Amino acid sequence: MGLKHRHNYESVASTLKQSEIRYLESSFAGRLSLAVVYPNLYSLGMSNLGFMTVHRLASSVPGTGVERFFPALEAESPLSPPFYSFETGRPLGDFAVLMFSFSYEGDFDKIPGLFSALGLPVLSGERNRHHPLLIAGGAAVASNAPALSRIFDVLVPGEAESTVVPILQQLHRDGFDAAVLSGLPGVWVPSVTSEIPALCGTHDVNSQPAWSHIVSEHNAFGGAHIIEVMRGCPRNCSFCLARAIYSPVRHVRAGVISNWLDEHPACKDLGLVAPSLFDHPQVEEIFAMLAQRGVRIRNSSVKWEKLTDPIIDALRKSGITGLTIAPETGSERLRKEMHKPLDEGRFIESLQHLFSQGFEHVKMYFVACLPGEEDSDAEATVEFIERVSKVVPGGASISTAFSIFVPKQHTPWQDLQAPCQYTIKKSLKFLRERLSRLSGQVKASFESPQEAIRQAYLSRVGPELADEYDREAKECRENRLFARNQFSALEF
Ligand code: SF4
Repeated sequence: MGLKHRHNYESVASTLKQSEIRYLESSFAGRLSLAVVYPNLYSLGMSNLGFMTVHRLASSVPGTGVERFFPALEAESPLSPPFYSFETGRPLGDFAVLMFSFSYEGDFDKIPGLFSALGLPVLSGERNRHHPLLIAGGAAVASNAPALSRIFDVLVPGEAESTVVPILQQLHRDGFDAAVLSGLPGVWVPSVTSEIPALCGTHDVNSQPAWSHIVSEHNAFGGAHIIEVMRGCPRNCSFCLARAIYSPVRHVRAGVISNWLDEHPACKDLGLVAPSLFDHPQVEEIFAMLAQRGVRIRNSSVKWEKLTDPIIDALRKSGITGLTIAPETGSERLRKEMHKPLDEGRFIESLQHLFSQGFEHVKMYFVACLPGEEDSDAEATVEFIERVSKVVPGGASISTAFSIFVPKQHTPWQDLQAPCQYTIKKSLKFLRERLSRLSGQVKASFESPQEAIRQAYLSRVGPELADEYDREAKECRENRLFARNQFSALEF
């Protein structure tokens, strides 16, 4: 069983590794052995520039052996313990330091299963110097570090660029002990201080933009290279974390992206990462430069009001026939409250123009159960979608995806009540029924209520989360289970 398990793992990992382009080599051996852990699918980790930046920076520190770990290499087939590193198949429990990258709070739920399989006590106070040093960072840690404060030895709410190298250098110098890291900017050692470092980005994105130094064919950008073109967002939508955790807003200049392309001539497809790409002051210039170089653009959601003809042209030249747009709600009152205005007449004209230019599909994101939402607001959303559906020409289609409002810390709506199960079910039932009456050209999908309720809990829970996970990990160990084992696939 053990050998078969290992063989299966190595065979999948080997196929994935062969599909990767590596621009920088990492050493797998060193005085300090480090596993960088992305607690979700391989494909998501390889699309995440935060995780990749940690790996890239850690690999630059002399004397550090760095390997990656993913608890699931393929969707729907999570690994069962024992766990091995991705690069050399080394048992994960052998590493001196494990650095976790949590990009969203839902991944916290992987902790009990992973820790129990590794024989690691969940409570940091129950571990000793024979256990690996556990460090966690990422957007979810920036959002809610207290939730992990009795589980991880070190939490890093600050940016990877200003923390990863100093952390590793300090560990090399003073020993693998959490206490030696206390006082480093952007780093929190809860056993030493209760003071969480303030969130403030200092990294100069033009001197060193974040990029995919390992390009996986299986990433969420269809195997494209990936580069960060803007950190932070100049807008202030009341429900969104982007402004708080990536502040201040920093743009990567078009010239820097052009130089980066000169250094990576194999790049023919480029994923552009930014919370709000179309607010980049040089977005037209960047798109024109990519089109002129014959580099295909891969991006996520677009800002409809910024879709000028040169941008539309560049998107079409990249072979893009479908776009995603986030109106969030059809209720004008709620749009005002969330500080995300939308001129409906212009929006519809813009969609007509897109369809006339050959785009075949538009996906619209909405948020259900917004604070203060009344029946008339949900009705307004349905009517808005109906009006939009009327301008969709034959052969084209629109789809709608509804997430559910989750109050996030550090946002203007952080103290508002999360919707309860009854409200969510009632609202989704209404939307489902009403949208099913619209033309067959409109498809709708909905976030699971359970997932939203769990997310709302995880985004605000405090240090008591450790007790829940400790209980779960013990149950996992006793029943040989791998708790809360679902892995999400990213839609792109
Ligand atoms: S929802 Fe989009 S536009 Fe609004 S603050 Fe967040 S990233 Fe910016």
